[in-house]
Amino acid sequence: EVRPAALQARLADLYKVPGANLIVTRGSSEAIDALIRAWCRAYASSVITTPPTFDMYRVYAEIQGAAIIHVPLAADDFRLDADTVLSSCAADTRLVFLCSPNNPTGTLVPEADILRIADGLDGRAIVVVDEAYIEFAERESIADAALGRNNVVVLRTLSKAYALAGARCGVAIAAEPLIDVMSKVLPPYSFPTPVVETVLEALSPKRLSASRATVDEIIRERTRVRSALDALPCVNNTWPSDANFVLARFADLPGVVAYLRSRGILIRDFGDTDGLRSCARITIGAAAENDALLDALDAFGGSG
Ligand SMILES: *Cc1c(COP(=O)(O)O)cnc(C)c1O
Repeated sequence: EVRPAALQARLADLYKVPGANLIVTRGSSEAIDALIRAWCRAYASSVITTPPTFDMYRVYAEIQGAAIIHVPLAADDFRLDADTVLSSCAADTRLVFLCSPNNPTGTLVPEADILRIADGLDGRAIVVVDEAYIEFAERESIADAALGRNNVVVLRTLSKAYALAGARCGVAIAAEPLIDVMSKVLPPYSFPTPVVETVLEALSPKRLSASRATVDEIIRERTRVRSALDALPCVNNTWPSDANFVLARFADLPGVVAYLRSRGILIRDFGDTDGLRSCARITIGAAAENDALLDALDAFGGSG
């Protein structure tokens, strides 16, 4: 098959959108790459990103030779300023990447802000809403609103809530004219049959309800872990999260990272990233794993 029809039908059902409004990609990463290749010309186009955020927008923009306009999130609470995004859009800007919930801050972009940006850029640029973590959020996908517009693309993936990153499967959801353009730049015959079988099996009713139970547990645990972190002397700050991780600022980040590693626990060090000084992203696991992390941080002790 040129495009995997069975997967497309199954994923349209999963994400509750018409099949014609969805295209299957090898993870959302391939969708990001395809969008940039479809709409950006080398050395003649730009994209907007809102750091600190997912690094792949930058990686694929650089591969294509697209310039990157940075509109940083607020330093204290990582809120996005819709007006600054709108005023930063240049004549050559083709795509605006909004990650909601944002990796690695966990921040959800309010739906009203996303739609205000999209409507403000109608006819000028496409807003890409990366919803890799939306299953962990208190809000539904923005897909319905996207389908009523000609310049919004929503990205979903099986890599996070379905723990299927190795299968490389995601989708882009958008109005048909946008899907048609993406279908022209995505390579044909790119889904191996074993991948199709693995994904369909992972979306069987039994496996699906197990995934949903895991997501519910992670959401419950996220609240518990965050309050426990806030009570530890080595933690200076945490932020509310709508994803399967919590961002925390430590008094002694290198010390904490090294100590946890010595006990077999890995957290993602963002200390070198602009806007994330002394911060790490802590992925929420099952209760026992989270307890191991909290015990270790307790044993690490003081404020540095
Ligand atoms: C993990 C992730 C993705 C994509 O992962 P794929 O495995 O390529 O689907 C996309 N966006 C964000 C923000 C992510 O964290």
